[in-house]
Amino acid sequence: MILILRPNIDKTGIDFQELMEFLGKMPGIQARVHDEHGAQQVLTEIYLVGDTASLNSDEMASLPGVERVVRVQDEYRILGRHQDDQRSISFDYNGVRFSQDDLNVFAGLCAVDTRRHVEQMMRALVEHGQTCTRMGAYKPRTSPYAFQGHGASCLPWVFELAGKHGIRVIAMEVTHENHVREIQEALEATGRPTGVMLQIGTRNTQNFELLKHVGRQQQFPVLIKRGFGITLEESLNAAEYLASEGNRRVIFGLRGMKSNLGDPHRNFVDFGHVPVIRRLTRMPVCIDPSHSVGNREADSDGILDICHATAQGVIAGANMVLVDFHPEPSKALVDGPQALTLKELPRFLEDVRIAREAYERRRELARRYGGKAHVAA
Ligand code: PEP
Ligand code: MN
Repeated sequence: MILILRPNIDKTGIDFQELMEFLGKMPGIQARVHDEHGAQQVLTEIYLVGDTASLNSDEMASLPGVERVVRVQDEYRILGRHQDDQRSISFDYNGVRFSQDDLNVFAGLCAVDTRRHVEQMMRALVEHGQTCTRMGAYKPRTSPYAFQGHGASCLPWVFELAGKHGIRVIAMEVTHENHVREIQEALEATGRPTGVMLQIGTRNTQNFELLKHVGRQQQFPVLIKRGFGITLEESLNAAEYLASEGNRRVIFGLRGMKSNLGDPHRNFVDFGHVPVIRRLTRMPVCIDPSHSVGNREADSDGILDICHATAQGVIAGANMVLVDFHPEPSKALVDGPQALTLKELPRFLEDVRIAREAYERRRELARRYGGKAHVAA
């Protein structure tokens, strides 16, 4: 059970003190206080754990300082959306806002290769009003002989270039806990010119020790990708690991599921699950059309499958798009065949805007019908 207190409640005030005293005397119940720092206010939530089944919600709601009570299902206790639970996880990180109401595009290099490519990429992004990017330094590769990423050695100059071009957040995969420390150190050494969103890749979705480590740090928000060969429930539980260790700034990423080799896309696009994640949890939802589709095929109108998949996710309410671009895809060291070119960036962004506008109009339509499913007479 979660007690949601009056916004900006004073912890030294009488209501809070009385409430904590009361909760402290309840047998078999432990109370954990958590502050959610929003843009306008601090929302204090008290998580009651233990024997909560017998608690009466109305009685708990009448305790001093309590505004609302949410009864939590067992699953996804922290990140889940529980009955009558309208709360959303929203956070600002380095000047960028993330929530189920926002949309941020992270276009960039699958893997950092040369300084020139990184700079060309960042310059193009800024020219088109973008402040976020993706830049892989640690690459989990199928073959041990494939390029594994430049690792820690590229971090200082990548961060400096980001600072120079006004890039505020870089999504960057980590595959080992040491990588988190290396990123922290490089940011520190360069004077924190940018921010980093740690990425847990699909191959590490159930690397529980990595999840615990990344969950314990509070400096960086985390993008966790759905595991490509496990159930959705297993992937959502993996996300909950991060939150249960203390980090609630978690974004859940769809990136396609493993299918047969002969299938037309690298992975089976699962963006039909965007609304499912938004219903089950309060996490912002990311889509990665590049690793889902995995090629540059287009339809007879000349629209790339990657753009179609992006639009499908965005029109369904996605909150983040992670997408591979490269100034010279034929020279990319990782995933060149699925990278879009810098020339295609404005068109891609315009396509995203069209899909987002359509989503907003659809949301408005749903509100007009009272948010209930509309059944034709
Ligand atoms: C990536 O985004 O670079 C990546 C490797 O993605 P995934 O973990 O989804 O394969
Ligand atoms: Mn890739």
